[in-house]
Amino acid sequence: MLNETHDPQRRSWLGAANEADGDFPIQNLPFGVFRRAHSSEAFRGGVAIGDQIVDLAAVLASGALTAPGLAAALGAAAESTLNAFMAAGPVAWSALRLALSRALALGSPRQRALGACLVPIREAELTLPARIGDYTDFYASIHHARRVGQLFRPERPLLPNYQWIPIGYHGRCSSILVSGEPIRRPLGQTLPEGVASPSVGPSQRIDYELELALFIGTGNALGERIAVDAAESHIFGLCLLNDWSARDVQAWEAQPLGPFLAKSFATTISPWVVTLEALEPYRLPWTRPAADPQPLPYLDSTALRHTGAIDIRLEVLLQTQHMQRAAAAPMRLSSSNFRDCYWSIAQLVAHHTLNGCNLRPGDLLGTGTLSGARPEQAGCLLELTQGGRQALSLPDGETRRYLEDGDTVILRGWCARDGAARIGFGEARAQLLPARLR
Ligand code: CA
Repeated sequence: MLNETHDPQRRSWLGAANEADGDFPIQNLPFGVFRRAHSSEAFRGGVAIGDQIVDLAAVLASGALTAPGLAAALGAAAESTLNAFMAAGPVAWSALRLALSRALALGSPRQRALGACLVPIREAELTLPARIGDYTDFYASIHHARRVGQLFRPERPLLPNYQWIPIGYHGRCSSILVSGEPIRRPLGQTLPEGVASPSVGPSQRIDYELELALFIGTGNALGERIAVDAAESHIFGLCLLNDWSARDVQAWEAQPLGPFLAKSFATTISPWVVTLEALEPYRLPWTRPAADPQPLPYLDSTALRHTGAIDIRLEVLLQTQHMQRAAAAPMRLSSSNFRDCYWSIAQLVAHHTLNGCNLRPGDLLGTGTLSGARPEQAGCLLELTQGGRQALSLPDGETRRYLEDGDTVILRGWCARDGAARIGFGEARAQLLPARLR
């Protein structure tokens, strides 16, 4: 449902929030956790607007925002993680969003009070928005599944369960990093082609994966399911996710139980969580090709068919060290759209809890690599280079099959259409450092 917070005409008294191509206009208001860089301040919740962060702890202390039922929501959102605010549920999320939207709007009597609670984004250190207790990664793009399957099983690219079950695995949450933190090339055990026995050394096939992830808001009790129609009220919001992957390690270890050390060395997320409410103007019908199996009843609903998909544009950029030294702009490797995903966010949550598995506030569910139907919409190098067989040519004459030390990978996401404000996700960025050999 659209409300005044989505009004594309609404402007902020903060000029930078009104720039046409900005990620954080007054209609977005994503949540994150920050402190001033190079300080020993406590981390606290904040909301991005233009080039500033509304310091929610400062807002709480100032008493500048008062409305019925708001105190508890604001108190939770000002904590050092957003878990308590995520647990507070959609009524609390909406109440705080509405109060902030009004206070930040042009002509608000609260301009002076809120203006005293701003911290420039460029002066802030952002950290993980929540204490992530569990991380699940799905495999929800059929274009990715099909193209990867084609490389390894050309006779049967798509396994028979794919069109019936949202496939996923349990990921590692201790190595989830926030954008900006470098990652290190991992060591791994691999079996190089044409060799009889495996060896240990730095992975030679480091890849990125372009994904979105959802943060669980309110959870469910062990043994209780979340119905597909209730699922979105349990989702706090979305961020970008890069599921770094060591393909040579993965090829040797993944059978029979799935990814392990090939994935658990690092995962990068963007620091700002865009709420589902902010994405409301970008909802689309969720569809399934008529020739494909239709979802089982627990994964299907009228509401899903009307508004289950979301139009989110995504892109991956690469900046090599050579480009950095030449002050060249990052090169776009590919772009895709979340609307082309085979499974919706509601279906992922409904399926995750079918067996009574309990989700908790702050749990993170990755979508899996979000590729489109066309080859240039591939969300990882494994697809773009056909398993390393076809090198990519970069504008400065370099080539890549997989990532090299010093490469920086940048994921971006945003929503844009006529008649609605642009809603940006910011970016998930990290540089790959050389392996540590000892
Ligand atoms: Ca993945």
